[in-house]
Amino acid sequence: MIMKKDIKNLGFQELKDSLLIMGFPSHSAGQIFNWVYKRRIEDFNLMTNISKEARQHLSKEFFCSRVRQLKKEVSCDGTAKFLFGLFDGHNIETVLIPEGRRNTLCVSTQVGCKFNCSFCYSGQFGFKRDLNIAEIVNQYLSVSDLIAPAKITNVVFMGIGEPLDNFSNTIGSIKVFSHRQGISLGKRKICISTCGLSPKIKELSILNLGVRLSVSLHATDDNIRSRIMPVNKKYPIASLMSAVRQFLKNDLGPVTFEYILLHRINTSNEMAEKLEKWLRGINYKINIIPCNMAKSIYKPPREDEVNCFLRELKTRNIFFTVRKPRGQDINAACGQLKARQINSCIKK
Ligand code: SF4
Repeated sequence: MIMKKDIKNLGFQELKDSLLIMGFPSHSAGQIFNWVYKRRIEDFNLMTNISKEARQHLSKEFFCSRVRQLKKEVSCDGTAKFLFGLFDGHNIETVLIPEGRRNTLCVSTQVGCKFNCSFCYSGQFGFKRDLNIAEIVNQYLSVSDLIAPAKITNVVFMGIGEPLDNFSNTIGSIKVFSHRQGISLGKRKICISTCGLSPKIKELSILNLGVRLSVSLHATDDNIRSRIMPVNKKYPIASLMSAVRQFLKNDLGPVTFEYILLHRINTSNEMAEKLEKWLRGINYKINIIPCNMAKSIYKPPREDEVNCFLRELKTRNIFFTVRKPRGQDINAACGQLKARQINSCIKK
């Protein structure tokens, strides 16, 4: 028996190559992409501009997967969190953040996560597996169908998992999101968020995809950052900043840094001083997010503590934005408390 393949796991070029091997014209790849990603037709028999013979062949070789919506919660601020079921019984979360004319989708890239950031709920359940390209793209397709005629305008890789740890599938899905015969989302409408995998940031810069980058920084001293984010033991701040500088050589800036203020952990003047040093010469945006997490080992900073830190940043000419959480009442902030500051990562 032939094992059918999920056509959504193929990039445009791979699909073209497969069609040529099967003896069909490579231009059918564009037609198929158009049917699947633009018109949302997943039955090959309905793809009427493709020859009957090719359609029969495609039906024998391929199938189109979907993720199953298990639950949807909507916050009082309009943020919606979707729980999707995968073929093997695992579940993933996807968050939609509407704001004005913008609808930003926050996609997951892994089931669980290996990196165990101390403030993150997702990391505490351990890593199960990577998502494949289809499972990443299907989050977009399902939510897109659910909110039609409204449209998703931006995609951020800020859900559960570390996107750069699932590098090839993250890149594969970006190619589908941005392909003009696929979902055709502008590359600057796509943002990858990382906990700081320096070698992978460098790999990303070599690919020069044109997407945005967001880095969870949260401390400017290695000892403290390693306590908050164990990944820092392997890739300390100097290595992270060197990777960011390489990324910026492609003129893909600004890079966004996320900085959660944690009571008496990372709010000192010394931290601000080191931040100034690290950001020197970098095209950046920085989002300051006063911690306000229930069920966290960290306490929210006091108001005077926040003000003092912000004053110190101003004194040092560090330009920042203070971000407020979105979807708090539905725990929309998975991953790197990411849904909270998403809006700043992607420009309209
Ligand atoms: S914040 Fe991101 S990288 Fe860190 S544990 Fe959570 S999902 Fe993983």
